[in-house]
Amino acid sequence: MVHLEVLAHLRNSNRYSDTIQALSEYLGQTKSSISQTVGFLESEGYLKRTRDEKDKRVFHLTPSPKGRRLVQEFESRFFGDVDVDTLSVKSLERTLREIQKRNGLRSFGLCFSCRHNLNPSGQKFVCGLTGESLSANDTKLRCREHEERV
Ligand code: SF4
Repeated sequence: MVHLEVLAHLRNSNRYSDTIQALSEYLGQTKSSISQTVGFLESEGYLKRTRDEKDKRVFHLTPSPKGRRLVQEFESRFFGDVDVDTLSVKSLERTLREIQKRNGLRSFGLCFSCRHNLNPSGQKFVCGLTGESLSANDTKLRCREHEERV
């Protein structure tokens, strides 16, 4: 399961959240354990790592087409025909968010709901925390720096 969780997280995450450090925080596992999992997935061709252009110490992890297919197959097999009760999901989300807050954990929320997500011109998004531009697609991804709007 952890292999699938790693691939699913990477598929849904932005450039601040696709690292071993972020995976370790998201899954609550040690960096060495995550490194082993990532090493296995990389050697089997499920993901690739690329060096950050600005900070050469940082590597970004991206699921390969084979990795994406694996996650998609798993999700459609297990969740494909589940009738999701929207109200229950919303209530579960609220409860989990409260638990995260009380325990000082990162929310890993979607970028568009972050208080740092700025859209000054009404056309282009900017991350108020890093000052970097965000594409419309970036705003749909998960972020380790996410902070809920209040
Ligand atoms: S606006 Fe928030 S969620 Fe989006 S990239 Fe910046 S810190 Fe992350």
